[in-house]
Amino acid sequence: MKFGNTLEDYVHSSEPHTRSGMLLLESARRLRIRPDDAAEIIKPYTVYIQRLPVPIMGRVVNLISGIVLHNRARGPYKGGIRIAKDVDIWETTELARLMTLKTALADIDLGGGKSGISIDLRALYAAMRREKRFLGEFREFARIAKADIIIEFTDQFGWLFSGRHYIPAPDMGSGAEEMVRIYNATLDPASVTGKPDGVEGWLPGRTEATGYGVWYAVLKDMERRGLAPDQCTAAIQGFGKVGMHAATALQGSGVRIVGLTDLTGGIYDPGGLDTLDVAAHYARHGSFNGYKARSLTSKRLFGLRVDYLIPAATGHVIHAGNADRVQARVIVEGANMPVTYDAMKILMEKNVDIIPDIYANAGGVIASNLEFRQALGGQRYTLPMTFAHIRERFDATYDAMKSLMKKGRTMTEASIDVALQRVHQTMTERDLLSR
Ligand code: GLU
Repeated sequence: MKFGNTLEDYVHSSEPHTRSGMLLLESARRLRIRPDDAAEIIKPYTVYIQRLPVPIMGRVVNLISGIVLHNRARGPYKGGIRIAKDVDIWETTELARLMTLKTALADIDLGGGKSGISIDLRALYAAMRREKRFLGEFREFARIAKADIIIEFTDQFGWLFSGRHYIPAPDMGSGAEEMVRIYNATLDPASVTGKPDGVEGWLPGRTEATGYGVWYAVLKDMERRGLAPDQCTAAIQGFGKVGMHAATALQGSGVRIVGLTDLTGGIYDPGGLDTLDVAAHYARHGSFNGYKARSLTSKRLFGLRVDYLIPAATGHVIHAGNADRVQARVIVEGANMPVTYDAMKILMEKNVDIIPDIYANAGGVIASNLEFRQALGGQRYTLPMTFAHIRERFDATYDAMKSLMKKGRTMTEASIDVALQRVHQTMTERDLLSR
C-alpha cells in the first residue's frame, strides 16, 4: 500500500535494474518473503548528494559526492569511500546494498552504506600540469588531491562519522592515507576503519584482510572439490590491495598464478609468476610496465583456461559480451559485482561456478568490524587474531550456505538467501517493515 511518494517519485528518477535487486527478488520468492517487504529491504534509507568545493593547489574544484545509507537494522551503516571518475548515485546505492548483505552474511553487527566521490584525477592532473601548478608525478598529485578531497568531505559529513552513525572505510581509490584524514578531524578511533598502522585504534592486518579472505575462500573451495593447491592455477584482474594480497597468499600456498592484469596492461607466465617479485616491481612503478614476462590484456585473461579466475578490480567486467569466452572452472569475485546478472546466467549454463562477492571479499569488512569493536572496547588485537577471526567468520558463513547448496542452490543464491533472511528477521523483530 502506498501512502505517499516513494523515493523514485520524490527524486523523479528510478534505480536501473541491478544485479543485487534481481537476486534479492528471486531470493525473496524462494524464502516466501512478501514482495512488499523485499522491495523495502532493497531500497536505501537515506541518500545524500553533496557538492564538494575542494581547494586543490590554489584552485577550487567542484566535485559531486554522495553517501547512501542503505540499511542499519543490524548495526551502524558501514562501507567504504569510493573515489573514481564514473561513480554515480545508483552505483553507490547498489554498493551500499551489497554492504548490507555482506555484513548480514558474515553475521557481524553492522549495516550497509557507501560513499562515492566522482573525480577524474588523471584529467585534473593534466590540467594542473598545463597550468604549471604541479609538475611532479601523478601518484604524488593524487595523494595530495585526495587528502584535500577527504578533508572537505569530512567537513561536510563529519557529523555522520563522529556520531558513529555511518562508519567509512577504504574502497576503490581510497586507503589508509585517506582514512587518517577522517580520524584527524573526528579524533575518534571508532569513527572510521582502515586507519594506518600506529594510529589510535588501528588493526594489524586490516590492509591485507580482503585479499586474505579471498585466499581463504579459494582454499576452502579447493578442499571442497578435493583439489590440491599446487595442482591449481589462477589468474587475477587487479593488483591493488585485494588482488596483490590474494596473489601472494595463493602463491604462498602453492597455487600457480599464470596471469595478472590491471587497467594499463598485464603479464603472463604459464609456468607461474613470482608474485612477490611482481609486487616489488609494481610498488616501484605503479604498473606491470617493464616487468620481464609476456604481456597480457584483461580480455585474454578472462579467456584463460585456469581453475580460478579472480576479477579483483572493478564491477561489470564479465558481461553478456564476454562470458562465453570464460574457460575457468570457478570465478571468484574479489571485486564487488564484477560479473553482471546476464553473465551469471550464461556462466551457469557453462557450468562455471561463482564464489560471490558478498562472501569472497568480506574479509575487509570483517576486519573493519574488529577494528571498530577494538576502538570501542579499548582492547588490542594482534595480526594472528585478525586472521583467525576472518577464518572463523568464513567458516561459519560457509556452513550457513552449505545446507542451502545441498538443496541445489548456487553459492550466489545461498549467500543472498542467508543474508536476506537475517536482515528480514531483524527488521521484523524491530518492527521496521510496513504492515
Ligand atoms: N570497501 C570494502 C567493501 O566493499 C570494505 C568496507 C568496510 O570495511 O567498511 O567491502
